[in-house]
Amino acid sequence: MKPHVVVVGGGPIGLACAIEARIDGMDVVLVEPRVGPIDKACGEGLMPGALAALHRIGVDPHGRRLDGIAYLDGASRVEHRFAERPGRGVRRTVLHQALAERAAELGAHRIHAKVTALSQTADGVTLTLSTGETVEAPWVIAADGLHSPVRRMAGLDGRAQAAQRRRFGLRKHFGVEPWTSLVEVHWSHGAEAYVTPVDDRTVGVAVLGSRPLDIDQVIAGIPELAGRLDGVPSVSDPRGAGPLLQRARSRSAGRVLLAGDASGYVDALTGEGMRVGFAQARASVAAVRAGSTEQYERAWRATTRDFRMLTSALVLAARSSFRPRIVPTAARRPELFGSIVERLSH
Ligand SMILES: Cc1cc2nc3c(=O)[nH]c(=O)nc-3n(C[C@H](O)[C@H](O)[C@H](O)COP(=O)(O)OP(=O)(O)OC[C@H]3O[C@@H](n4cnc5c(N)ncnc54)[C@H](O)[C@@H]3O)c2cc1C
Repeated sequence: MKPHVVVVGGGPIGLACAIEARIDGMDVVLVEPRVGPIDKACGEGLMPGALAALHRIGVDPHGRRLDGIAYLDGASRVEHRFAERPGRGVRRTVLHQALAERAAELGAHRIHAKVTALSQTADGVTLTLSTGETVEAPWVIAADGLHSPVRRMAGLDGRAQAAQRRRFGLRKHFGVEPWTSLVEVHWSHGAEAYVTPVDDRTVGVAVLGSRPLDIDQVIAGIPELAGRLDGVPSVSDPRGAGPLLQRARSRSAGRVLLAGDASGYVDALTGEGMRVGFAQARASVAAVRAGSTEQYERAWRATTRDFRMLTSALVLAARSSFRPRIVPTAARRPELFGSIVERLSH
């Protein structure tokens, strides 16, 4: 039987697409090569909007309550507590498991393989898999990550960023009881360190910056964080991701739609990837139902507008001579900081 839609990539956004499609009553096939809960370099902060999107599709992963965001730089500190509802720090493996179980419960069909080639006609798309099989469907949603192979196969790769401007992310976990219910963003000389409590005994640290990037060195250069983590054992293998900025020329080519990081990504600095990605999952399935790529382009632009504008502006400031004044300025204008956090987290 031919499914209504094939979803490529079984990360959080691909799984959310498969769940949305099943909720809508469509037959869906999800293609993902990796088996079991998938880990990935991520800050692991689900902002209130991301958590609400998960609850809407019946997913409620275990984690640690997040009450807001704090920026710290030496003696300067500013914080904002979410106005309406909390977010949650959730280990990627826990999130993946919860989404995969929900997709299975709703009857999404999974194939463990990589997509290696794509062709399409006016009526549908044929995907060739690493197993040698082919899968056909009227629509494909590709949520195959930052370096999306389907984006490339569909001719949608955008301009690559100049090498010297590229930013990367690294993450590691520490076995310690969280000391805060906020996501702490420590601004050091050349990198930002994101601290997210993910359960009662684990704190994740994600570091963002240009290469060379060494997570232990960045932590050692932030006295407050180094003090907290002194002698604390690391409880996960370090993982990395990047370059973070990825552009797509468009969100669709014929009957192929891009969702999640595959559709274009700015930076992890504002911790928005999943909230925006879950909104795209919903919009892409609605567009498949309506048979309208224009509808998806419009919805994609609307759901990502704040993320694209505010995150790009913050990354620009982070690289400029204004960098040392970012946190002191935010500390002097806490209401402005709060309104930006609110715009980005819902
Ligand atoms: C350092 C860092 C910190 C971050 N912090 C946060 C945060 O705190 N909060 C937040 O919301 N977001 C954060 N993000 C962003 C978030 O991690 C991403 O937005 C999110 O993982 C996107 O999910 P995705 O499903 O689109 O892609 P991925 O999670 O990358 O999943 C893509 C999937 O596609 C599969 N795939 C690849 N190629 C193929 C193929 N050919 N065929 C089939 N399958 C394929 C892969 O195996 C993978 O499972 C952070 C990102 C980084 C790098």
